[in-house]
Amino acid sequence: MLKTRPPLLYGACVALLALVGATATAPVASAAPDLARAAAVARAANIPTPEQHFGFKMGAEGKLASYPDVLTYMKLIAERSDRVDYKTIGPTTMGNEYGTVIISSPKNLRRLDRLVEINQKLADPRSTSPEEARRLASEGVPFYHLEATIHSSEVGNGQAINDIVHRLATEDSDFTRNILNNSVVVLVPSQNPDGQHLIIDHFNRTAGTDYRRTFPDLYHKYTGHDDNRDWTMFTQVEARYRLELEKKYRPAIVHIMHQKGNSGSRIFVPPYGGITSENVPANMSSSVSAIGQHAARALAAAGKTGVGSLDYHIFWTLEQPVGYFPFTGSGVYLTEIASVTDYAYPQKSADGRPLGPQQARMNLIEPYRSDTWTLADIVDYAKIATYAGMEYTASNGEKLLYDNLYAVPHEYLTKGVPSGTFAFVVDAKQRDPYATFEMLQRLEWTEVEIERATSAFVADGKRYDAGSYVVKMQQPRGNWAHQVLGTDQYPEVRDCGECPVLLPYAEATTSLPLQLGVDVAEIRAPFEAQLERVTTVAPPQVTMPPAPRAKGAYLVRPESYGTIQIVSALQDANIPTFRGAKGFTAKGVDYPAGTYIVPATPQARNTLATASAKVGLQVAAVDQTPKVAGVQLKPKTRVGLLRGVGNMPGGWDMWQFDQYGINYDVVSAQDFQRKSLNELYDTIVVSSGVSRDDIVEGLDPAQYDEAYSWAYGVGEKGWRKLQQFVRNGGTLLAIGDSVQTAQQLLDLPMKPALPTSDDEFVTGGSLLNQEFDSNDPVAWGMPESWPVWLYDTQAWELTGDSGKVVSNYPAEGEVLASGYLRGAEHIRGATNVASFDVGKGQVVTYGSEITFRTLPRSQYNLLYNAIYHGPAAEVDATGVQQLRPQFGPDGAPVKR
Ligand SMILES: [Zn+2]
Repeated sequence: MLKTRPPLLYGACVALLALVGATATAPVASAAPDLARAAAVARAANIPTPEQHFGFKMGAEGKLASYPDVLTYMKLIAERSDRVDYKTIGPTTMGNEYGTVIISSPKNLRRLDRLVEINQKLADPRSTSPEEARRLASEGVPFYHLEATIHSSEVGNGQAINDIVHRLATEDSDFTRNILNNSVVVLVPSQNPDGQHLIIDHFNRTAGTDYRRTFPDLYHKYTGHDDNRDWTMFTQVEARYRLELEKKYRPAIVHIMHQKGNSGSRIFVPPYGGITSENVPANMSSSVSAIGQHAARALAAAGKTGVGSLDYHIFWTLEQPVGYFPFTGSGVYLTEIASVTDYAYPQKSADGRPLGPQQARMNLIEPYRSDTWTLADIVDYAKIATYAGMEYTASNGEKLLYDNLYAVPHEYLTKGVPSGTFAFVVDAKQRDPYATFEMLQRLEWTEVEIERATSAFVADGKRYDAGSYVVKMQQPRGNWAHQVLGTDQYPEVRDCGECPVLLPYAEATTSLPLQLGVDVAEIRAPFEAQLERVTTVAPPQVTMPPAPRAKGAYLVRPESYGTIQIVSALQDANIPTFRGAKGFTAKGVDYPAGTYIVPATPQARNTLATASAKVGLQVAAVDQTPKVAGVQLKPKTRVGLLRGVGNMPGGWDMWQFDQYGINYDVVSAQDFQRKSLNELYDTIVVSSGVSRDDIVEGLDPAQYDEAYSWAYGVGEKGWRKLQQFVRNGGTLLAIGDSVQTAQQLLDLPMKPALPTSDDEFVTGGSLLNQEFDSNDPVAWGMPESWPVWLYDTQAWELTGDSGKVVSNYPAEGEVLASGYLRGAEHIRGATNVASFDVGKGQVVTYGSEITFRTLPRSQYNLLYNAIYHGPAAEVDATGVQQLRPQFGPDGAPVKR
């Protein structure tokens, strides 16, 4: 890429800046403007414009500055300007650089530590009085967190920031002085640098070819567009970087730059539309509405039309698009700008009519009248909206610091949450201690104060043992804790009598306890308990029991989803692993069906010790191996993941498999060139969202080169190989809407139970009650009932006798556990998880999205049980008691 850089003028710049510094104390006022102008000229000469640096103007048709070049430019400006600093935060998922650019006046940058300290004190109402806060608010300046891109295909904003940083670094005007003196900008050039690489590298690589310019796969290794849906579990390293930045700098305003589809308004600015959660602070909402309308005015003044507002219904389940910020009092200012063709080429209307809605309304005062929209327009609109946001923030610093940063947590500390809830109590006795740990860890990350009972207590008539956890609502993060721990009743609201129900932008509920499988009680009435603050959250401490005698075995209970990590460690180390098919009693303890039974070898002991400590699950030892019929897992079970190109559920499934150490490969088109897929895989998992078309047609080789050949279509012949895989003895597991694909593949005796019309049935992403048959190997370790996650997919009715119902929605009683459900009668008694024997193989269908964004972890065992159970070998009771191997060292079944 062409780069022209002016010669380095560093020495000259320093000299002139020294002069400017001197004028600050000099009484000769009339000399100051000239010197300031001279300094500005020198600065401008020293710092190349984006055009000089990149070789083209930001927004030039068909031209995109790549992420590494943008970072180079930011670092160059930081080196040459005393208004700009660059900080590397750390490596991304794929090893790229995640960094921030800090912009303010030289004076503010010199006292940055003090400004950060002020923000920290404001954000801590426990140790800062309202009077002290007033004083701090006048001493400090607000921080403006500017996130240029999280969605990597929305490329225009990432170009605009080069102009923005250049202007702030070089211009001397009342406008820039106000921003620099009265705020600190913390710019994140990309919240997902990997995606910038993937998208722009593909775009540049395909220039001048007949290939499609748009990147076909996920623009983050695991999450793709869902990188903006990770704000309660914080699974990805980039999400945790953002959280750390947020906790470090305490921005008063967070500007999140996005692009949207290209048919509506040209830009969205707040106020937001729709209903809001009562957990969202009112101050936060109103300050953001004000900033949005300040931007609307600036856009109008610049002659920009098509400015829309009162949209984006994102303040119900905040976990998703906006995250933690609003709960801390940071105002979330979202801009969404219309996109163009292939990232960087003009969009022209097909019929010559102007683009976007043409009727002036209060939420779109002046329609956009042109039939063309370009990358340069995106860059222009982005800059104006950003400058307006910065100007508003700098001009209202004291109010934002006090009303948002201080008053919001202060209100929850002194008044509690609007619902009147006193506390949430996490019982010390839990089915899944690992789930409890994972939930508490998220609370700890988000600064929720957790307390632990030092003696037993009674709350709401129930006795809780010492060791139970208490999260009180009267604390600075009360509203956030309420949001993630509580259950939701999403209200049925319509804009008109005939209008559809107003569904939230993302999901209708958050509820970490229900997703993870933790028993948590919401307690309204105050209660007394002896409590101590929890300072660190860690998995429960476990110790290995004394080694059993030679005829004995180690036992691992099956209830926790943490056991998956123990099982994959056993698989990895090639340690024989058995499971009892029925419950049994050993040493006076009852063990449920599915309990893992492992030989008492030193190698097994080592593996179990390491793996169980990691997840905090206690291993037991018995001197007499139980006499119970069961199975032996196939050593090194080979898992294939049919994930679908660009399919987010498939990305999440990869992440989960990588985390848990599953022995898997992504199924590729090349695999289908084998005689049989059974040569490669024992179990194939079909991620939600993979259709017959995705498999048979796949990506078109004429549009995407060899780099994506794994995702080419496999044709009818490949489709038949997949059928054959199951009939030959393979295990096929289909999740969510891929159940339909499996049904088509093998003509499974089942039909959809739910009506297609939203008027009759809709959940909008909710948790629905479920009954499990825990005697079925697929549901071993599951409780009798617990909610599952259902979004837009299907419930089923079995039509023949060959399928077995593993779990179903309750026929009677409440179906909705949290969120929203319209048309409960349609889903009552319907099948969710079912298993089928097909030829020598097995199919399990999961109608609900049991791996959705890795949130419903309470349901993970349904998947992992099946992954290993299909390829496992049955063993009679004597065989289990003798731990008789069913597989040879090569993994082939032992012939007897
Ligand atoms: Zn976006």
